[in-house]
Amino acid sequence: MKQSLTFIPTMREVPADADIKSHQLLLRAGFIRQTASGVYSYLPLAQKVLTKIQQIVREEMNKAGAAELLMPALQQAELWQESGRWYSYGPELMRLRDRHDREFALGATHEEVITSIVRDEIKSYKRLPLSLYQIQSKFRDEKRPRFGLLRGREFIMKDAYSFHSSFESLDQVYEKMFTAYSNIFSRCKLNYRAVIADSGAMGGKDTHEFMVLSDVGEDTIAYSDSSNYAANIEMAPVHMTYEKPTGSAEDLEKVDTPEMKSIDEVCHFLSVDKKNCLKSLLFKVDEKFVLILVRGDHEVNDIKVKNLFEADIVELASADETKQITGVIPGYVGPVNLPESVEIVADHAVLAIANGVCGANEEHTHYKGVNLDRDANISQFADLRFIQEGDPSPDGTGTIQFARGIEVGHVFKLGTRYSEAMNASFLDENGRSQPLIMGCYGIGVSRTLSAVVEQYNDENGIVWPADLAPYDVHIIPINMKQDAQRNLGEELYAEFLDAGLDPLIDDRQERAGVKFADSDLIGIPVRITVGKRADEGIVEVKVRTTRETQECDRSEVLSVIK
Ligand code: ATP
Ligand code: MG
Ligand code: MG
Ligand code: MG
Repeated sequence: MKQSLTFIPTMREVPADADIKSHQLLLRAGFIRQTASGVYSYLPLAQKVLTKIQQIVREEMNKAGAAELLMPALQQAELWQESGRWYSYGPELMRLRDRHDREFALGATHEEVITSIVRDEIKSYKRLPLSLYQIQSKFRDEKRPRFGLLRGREFIMKDAYSFHSSFESLDQVYEKMFTAYSNIFSRCKLNYRAVIADSGAMGGKDTHEFMVLSDVGEDTIAYSDSSNYAANIEMAPVHMTYEKPTGSAEDLEKVDTPEMKSIDEVCHFLSVDKKNCLKSLLFKVDEKFVLILVRGDHEVNDIKVKNLFEADIVELASADETKQITGVIPGYVGPVNLPESVEIVADHAVLAIANGVCGANEEHTHYKGVNLDRDANISQFADLRFIQEGDPSPDGTGTIQFARGIEVGHVFKLGTRYSEAMNASFLDENGRSQPLIMGCYGIGVSRTLSAVVEQYNDENGIVWPADLAPYDVHIIPINMKQDAQRNLGEELYAEFLDAGLDPLIDDRQERAGVKFADSDLIGIPVRITVGKRADEGIVEVKVRTTRETQECDRSEVLSVIK
């Protein structure tokens, strides 16, 4: 490509509203432009890199046995109502109406659409497992769009969905996807960790996030320095010592906790109908579930001690029953005997409340589901000790280190959360109707581009890993008006094209300083400067990563850069 023909609007100034490196550099190097808050145009250079990332994603997804399709971004409300997420997704879902006043959403993710397609077509276990993926723009009206492509309101995601007749089959495909993700992020040369993640209100069980290690990451991860253990801090254990609970055993008996049908149902409920409670917490106690709702109108992160005594314990029966909450015991603060490891399956910022409400016999009970930043302010009210750097890692090997992470990918065993809600079933080998078992797997493609820039830059600009670079080699004739320089530059350009390389030639009538500065900003791995010695056939080869330069005869250039 000739630089005069493409569009690379570089800028010297650091844009005022861009506070992190990748955002600044992508703007300055002319890769992106913002059109609205959290909404970006990908200019030609970004589009080239995105295409390369997408190609890697496609190759690895295809290898994992997934087939590509493309679903609509425009989705009718009815589908989201069926799953319940029309009500639970909140303001992040972009909603709109058509001319007939029918409601729609712009796809924030595609579980509903894919489930509705598959439910209409797949009737028998013989067609399972089935994995489908797409690469598409997603829309989320993020509360705080920021950091450029890292948190946009329109962004590119690869999302995949798998359908199964058994949990074993789901486990196998999950493994394959996990491997595919590892390959993808390794091929993008990212320094990342796969971490145990929180299944939150989505229900389901196993879930891992792929986190790029970076100080600008919004998540904190706790990892072992000498094993594979790594967890989102939300899932890392908290050590708790308990004060004697103030309630009595008789109080506990007042709480009738019939069995839930499934955690999925409870979580589904939680996300649908939390209107009246500030926080909810679900304990599994002896195969039963206890839901604690904390009322109040504070900010979510601003849990006050008085909430402790405003906690309600709610019995849970089936998902239907939980829609009308019954059996509330206001102000209950009696002890509940907890098993050694308590899985908190719902919102979890209320450990203080847990401590106030529930007693345990054990010291050092492991609680899952903690967000250090979010929950630290409640620790003063309860005797909590969050996992810290230097603690022994929970798998018994090594010590815990903390790092910040950017979530670039997320794999998730959904189970039957969507298929049950949306009536997507198949006939098993015995002719019985069963809900489809599902997994979902997302990669933030545009976020990944930004994460690469975050990890690959220096004070002069971006330093692309070779496989992702927008071009392979940047040819810079210093003075296009000099025939020798222009001719040699153009000859090398043609030679590189013939050799299967993708060259960019700076054929602009600009000063050398401008050309070099732009070239450093853009970050193409190899630069060929065609200058004073052009008439002798001598050029300078500079490697962007090492900044090493060497003079070289034109006949040797190809072998040097290849
Ligand atoms: P986050 O925790 O950052 O809000 P998420 O958990 O809501 O992300 P998922 O629903 O897991 O996101 O979506 C799959 C992937 O899409 C994420 O792992 C991330 O890489 C990407 N992604 C999510 N939200 C955004 C966004 N606003 N801008 C860019 N990429 C995003
Ligand atoms: Mg999000
Ligand atoms: Mg997340
Ligand atoms: Mg996620």
